[in-house]
Amino acid sequence: TSQVTTVRDATPILPQVKNIIAVASGKGGVGKSTTAVNLAVALAQTGAKVGLIDADISGPSVPTMFNVEGEQPSVKKVGDKNIIVPISQYGVKLMSIGFLTPTDSAVVWRGPMASSALRQFISDVEWGALDYLLIDLPPGTSDIHLTMVQTVPVTGAVIVTTPQKVALADANKGISMFKQPQINVPVLGVIENMAYFTPEELPDNKYYLFGKEGGKKLAEKYNAPFLGEIPIVQSIRESGDTGYPAVLKKGPTQTAYMELAESVAR
Ligand code: ADP
Repeated sequence: TSQVTTVRDATPILPQVKNIIAVASGKGGVGKSTTAVNLAVALAQTGAKVGLIDADISGPSVPTMFNVEGEQPSVKKVGDKNIIVPISQYGVKLMSIGFLTPTDSAVVWRGPMASSALRQFISDVEWGALDYLLIDLPPGTSDIHLTMVQTVPVTGAVIVTTPQKVALADANKGISMFKQPQINVPVLGVIENMAYFTPEELPDNKYYLFGKEGGKKLAEKYNAPFLGEIPIVQSIRESGDTGYPAVLKKGPTQTAYMELAESVAR
């Protein structure tokens, strides 16, 4: 039939962006932002044009992880509209709720404020042509998720979880949310973070500190692709703190993130 009844908006938002990918988790602290940051840089390393929106009001960590803490995006006038120029670092265009609040201040973001910030990050930022726009969402379910799907056509969501039971229980809820009719975002797959630990002096040993293959089983349960696993690596944590993403340093961690980017891009 020629009748289209699912048009979300008369004017397409971000027509020059090919894929809008939400990075979500059920629980906080599972490494969602770390994964989003390394994934964004990995995709940029493949030659793709990449943007990243940090919409995690619970603790915007993208500025720190990209070593652009305290930087302020500039604003320019286009016609009678003010357009925000995103900050570029490591080949990724960035917008973060952290750029809007002074470092160390304890700004409490209410749901509606955060939602309107996200809307502005989408419609008033000079993203240009992008292959991927990643959105680092707050953990759990919130107004922000609803705002996102009401504002842009989201291509899909990737779910980050650790193999731990409590993380998986929350990830279950996260997946269910994306499947709800009013959200209706395809789940592109599950990423298992902190999958195991291998001490340097015992390179053949894997210790499953948070349990084994929980992410894989979660993916199976929902018939979603398992996108890959990232072990617990000290340099991943350190690179988050120093603002130089682990994926930029040669070695097995770089390989793991590049493989992850490949499976997300597929
Ligand atoms: P979330 O966004 O889910 O709250 P973060 O990305 O902020 O989680 O990560 C939580 C903490 O765990 C941070 O200190 C981060 O550096 C660390 N971390 C995340 N993933 C890994 C990993 N694979 N190996 C080691 N540390 C990690």
